[in-house]
Amino acid sequence: MRRTNRRKFLRQIVGATVALAGLNASTDLAGRLEAEAGTAGVVPWYRRTLRWGQTNITEIDPAGYDIAWWRQHWKRTCVQGVILNAGGIVAYYPSKYPLHYRPPLLGDRDLYGELAKAAHDDGLMVFARMDSNRTHEAFYKAHPDWFARDASGKPHRAGELYVTCVNSPYYDEYIPSVLTEIIERSHPEGITDNSWSGPGRDSICYCENCTKKFHERAGEKIPREKNWDDPVYREWIEWNYARRLEIWDANNRATKAAGGTDCLWVGMNSGSIGGQCRSFRNLKEICRRAEILMLDHQARSESSGFQQNGETGKLIHGLLGWDKLAPESMAMYQAGQPTFRKAAKPEPEARLWMLEGFAGTIQPWWHHIGASGEDRRQYRIVEPINRWHEANQEYLVDREPVAGVGLVWSQQNTDYYGHDNPEELVELPFRGMANALLRARIPYLPVHADHIERDSPRLSVLVLPNLAVMTESQCAAVRRFVERGGNLIATGQTSLYGPWGEPRTDFALADLFAAHVTLARGHSIQVDLKSARETLHSYLRLAPEQSAGVYGPKIGNEPPPAGKRHPILKGFDETDILPFGGSLGSVRAEAGAAVLATFVPPFPVYPPESSWMRVPRTDIPALIIPANKKSRIAYMPADLDRRYARDNFPDHGDLLANLVRWAAGDTIPLAVRGPGLVDCHLYRQHKRLILHLVNLTNAGTWRAPVDELIPVGPLSVEVRTIEGLRVSTMKFLVSPRESSLTLKKDWVAFQVPSLVDHEVIVLE
Ligand SMILES: [Zn+2]
Repeated sequence: MRRTNRRKFLRQIVGATVALAGLNASTDLAGRLEAEAGTAGVVPWYRRTLRWGQTNITEIDPAGYDIAWWRQHWKRTCVQGVILNAGGIVAYYPSKYPLHYRPPLLGDRDLYGELAKAAHDDGLMVFARMDSNRTHEAFYKAHPDWFARDASGKPHRAGELYVTCVNSPYYDEYIPSVLTEIIERSHPEGITDNSWSGPGRDSICYCENCTKKFHERAGEKIPREKNWDDPVYREWIEWNYARRLEIWDANNRATKAAGGTDCLWVGMNSGSIGGQCRSFRNLKEICRRAEILMLDHQARSESSGFQQNGETGKLIHGLLGWDKLAPESMAMYQAGQPTFRKAAKPEPEARLWMLEGFAGTIQPWWHHIGASGEDRRQYRIVEPINRWHEANQEYLVDREPVAGVGLVWSQQNTDYYGHDNPEELVELPFRGMANALLRARIPYLPVHADHIERDSPRLSVLVLPNLAVMTESQCAAVRRFVERGGNLIATGQTSLYGPWGEPRTDFALADLFAAHVTLARGHSIQVDLKSARETLHSYLRLAPEQSAGVYGPKIGNEPPPAGKRHPILKGFDETDILPFGGSLGSVRAEAGAAVLATFVPPFPVYPPESSWMRVPRTDIPALIIPANKKSRIAYMPADLDRRYARDNFPDHGDLLANLVRWAAGDTIPLAVRGPGLVDCHLYRQHKRLILHLVNLTNAGTWRAPVDELIPVGPLSVEVRTIEGLRVSTMKFLVSPRESSLTLKKDWVAFQVPSLVDHEVIVLE
């Protein structure tokens, strides 16, 4: 983009903020933008383009693309950048490469070029969109050696199209020349690619290029089949990851050579770690390279909920840096299960997904399929949301989370423990823990296992939810965290597997857990998976039992109550058992460790006459508290985290939240009281605190999609202030209202009278 336009844009962004957000905020923003701009006087486009729009062009669109209407729509929806289809599977411009397929209706027209010019004339940034992973048949016939092949030599197909091979000249030569051509013709700010990473893990390519290159690296043939126990297969996985990073770097070299140092190439990425694994996209390494991340993560799945988007934002920024942008493609059509590309998504459903994204510091990027649509409701959804975003953008970027609880994850655990079943083995335990924290309104942060050391100064509790695969250095980082007084919760098979998923004879962190595996060779990922999928009629027995002298019928010859219960069991005074149903490894607790719950083995459900506990008591530990003086540590063999994600039993969620509350002591910076399911995200931005409250009550009480928003409130909120901040003013960014602020030592208390979809509160 030309310098004058950039300057104009800079003035616009600051001007808008002066008008809408008050003098202090605008001074801050202007100052920061100027500082970033440095001597060149220009903030790079990828740091200031906060709202994006995309009309994914279909092959029939050239006949009737109403560019004038879309320009108005860009303006109405306050976007600052657009993603425009340029090339790849389909070229929407007259490419000099004859095999670059052009739809018949396009003729000689340069539709992409017209749109790029219109966007630039309107002061918008342009991301040219590619889809480099497939071609039409003519291309395949001309370059059969550029395409992925199965073991029998047949090309990999995707419908009518042919899948290109990442190790062929298609990626090394052809794609960089297409990128160069696009940049020379239309000068987009950058290029983004939809499915840039080529064939996924389930399509092993045996073409000559792959065969030769893999042999050069590994001295082996490409594995004939998937086998996670085979070192050659694991080498093949790593080789594939490395190749995708090479492609990322090579494409960036090409765009920068053609368009200057700010001309970025950015492949789109998913917020699903399992999805990233299947596509060989190493999210940590990609984020280390990226100046901006384009998230292709369009809608919620019913199992993980809206909250997954807020979490994705935090997970991505934890890798990318909190000062960078991560716009996310947000479908305005019915995406997900089932998909209807041409039908509007119900407005409340689209809205809550967007608002959760904002709460996770994700930027909006609306997305439609095709340049025209007969369900016109989809074009109404974004305008009010983006107007709000524009008016409050100052508060929605460049901020750091305030959360003392870190939920640890790693892509390596998803690959080498999750294998082909990451949902059961890896994602459910993480999600159960996250859902328990959401429900208890305890702010948390996803922490990559390689970043434990980096992030630990801000954390008081580390939670390792079935983080089975752990490297020695990750274990060492956990140990140092605990030695410094940090508190630890671990569940399931945490640290029981080495970096490649090889079983250890005992937990690498056994010394911290005060627990040891008792069946040295009795465990395997296959056994874990089987038990993860089963639901048995089993229970947990809480200790010590409290059954004598309390309300309820007398029970046989039960032992008398034996002392006071641990605070982790708070709220369960009227029960000695909890429903379980899940799995727990065979472990032994060290002498001196407290066992707060034991396993009651399964017994029949049917017929009712037979439904009595055959073995009412065992000493099989389900929850262990080591006798540690300095830190609070809990190790839970029982997979209650996985069970909570799956079965949604409030008891399981309460016990998980109790664990974290106990471990956190008085370090949780937020208390929100009042009815409803409310997702809370707290941030620090310079000398202010920003609190997002998202009302998920609707989503929690009915199935997807949400079609009505039901207000909750009043909510009583208390926020701990941060060092150097004396809170004197409070501002509601969604429903401006008068509300009084009470200061109590280092806490600020106030009321939110009503919460419809979301509220953002700024304390400064
Ligand atoms: Zn190949």
